[in-house]
Amino acid sequence: MRKLKNILVTGGSGFIGSNFIKLVLDKESLFPSLERVINIDKLTYAGSIENNKSYKDDSRYFFVKDDICNKSIVGKLITDFNIDAIINFAAESHVDNSIDEPGEFIQTNIFGTYNLLECARNKKLSNDDPIIFLHVSTDEVYGSLSLKDEKFNELNRYKPNSPYSASKAASDHLVRAWNKTFGLKTFITNCSNNYGPNQNEEKLIPKTISRAISKKPIDIYGDGKNIRDWLYVEDHCNAIARVITMGEIGETYNIGGLNEISNIEIVNTICNKLELIFPFKENPSFINIDKDQSVNSYSGLIRFVADRPGHDFRYSINPKKIQDDLAWKPDFDFELGIEKTIKWYIDKLT
Ligand code: NAD
Repeated sequence: MRKLKNILVTGGSGFIGSNFIKLVLDKESLFPSLERVINIDKLTYAGSIENNKSYKDDSRYFFVKDDICNKSIVGKLITDFNIDAIINFAAESHVDNSIDEPGEFIQTNIFGTYNLLECARNKKLSNDDPIIFLHVSTDEVYGSLSLKDEKFNELNRYKPNSPYSASKAASDHLVRAWNKTFGLKTFITNCSNNYGPNQNEEKLIPKTISRAISKKPIDIYGDGKNIRDWLYVEDHCNAIARVITMGEIGETYNIGGLNEISNIEIVNTICNKLELIFPFKENPSFINIDKDQSVNSYSGLIRFVADRPGHDFRYSINPKKIQDDLAWKPDFDFELGIEKTIKWYIDKLT
C-alpha cells in the first residue's frame, strides 16, 4: 500500500472534494503517514468553505483560495508542501451551465487539468519522488445508453454529448497522454452520479429536497424517465482512496453503485420520505404555486418542463474492475443514503 504524506486536493470546497478531505483526515488505516491535506479551491459559486467547517481547525488541513489554472501558485504548493499526490476534483460540473456558457468549462476542466499535469511533471523532472495524479472524472464521457445497452466498462468508446462531458473527456485524454508520454503516475476514475451532504442546490437531489421543503414547484425535465446510476458520496470517496493507495499506475477505474433509478422515481422517493420525516401538512412554509390551493402533498408540487438539449437518456456503470482488483464495494444502499441525505438537508435548510 502507498503511504501518502502530503496530498493536494483541488476543488476541495465543492461537494465531493469536501467529503473526500474529511475521509482522508478521518481514515488513519488508509492514510497512516498523513501529514498534510492542502485544498486549493477558487470558491466559484459551487464551492464554499462552509463545506470544510468540520475540519477547518485540524492542524493537518490547509486551505488556499486560488485557481488551478495559476501555474506559479500550484507549482509553489507542490514544492513548499512536498506534495506526493494530487487529487483533481476542481471543475465546472453542472451540465445546464455548460449549455448556457461553455467557456469556463473549457478553461477550468481542460486548461486547468493541463496546468496541474504540467506542474506535477515538473516536480518529477526535478528528481524528487514522482507525484501520483488522480483525475476524478465522470461516466458522462461515455455518452448515453438505451435500456438494452450493456453498462459502461473501462473499454467503452468516449462519446460525450454535452459541453461538460466533452470537457471532462478532453481532460481524461490529457491525463492518459501525460502517463504514456511523460511517465507521470496517473489514475483516472469515471464515476456515476453522486448524492449526499454538501452538494450544490442546482443538482437534482438537493434541488428537489430544497424546493419541496420550501413548497415551491419541483421541475422535472421531459417525462422524467432518464436514468442515472446513483452512488452515495462517501462510497465514491472510499473508492478514490483505494485507487490512490492501492491502484495500478496508469489505470482507469469505473466507479458505480449498480443502482439505476429514473429521475421521476428519485423525486417520488424524496417526496414520500419527506412526508414521513417532515410531513407536508406540518411544514409551515407558505405555498403559492400559481395560487393552486389543491396542492396538499409534496408530490403535488411536481411539474414536467421542456427537456434540455442533448439530455442523455441513461448512464450505468459496470464496477467489476474496481470490485475485483481493489476489493471496493459500496457501504450505503440507496434507502439508507437517501434518508441520511434528506435529514442532512432538512437540518441545513430549516
Ligand atoms: P462541485 O461543482 O460541487 O465542486 C467543484 C469545486 O471546484 C468547487 O468548490 C469550485 O469552487 C472548484 N473550482 C471550480 N473551478 C476551479 C478552478 N479553476 N480552480 C480551483 N477550484 C475550482 O463538483 P463536484 O460535484 O464535487 O464534482 C467534483 C468532480 O467530480 C468534478 O470533476 C466532476 O466532474 C466529478 N464528478 C462529479 C459527479 C457528481 O455526481 N457530482 C460524478 C462523477 C464525477
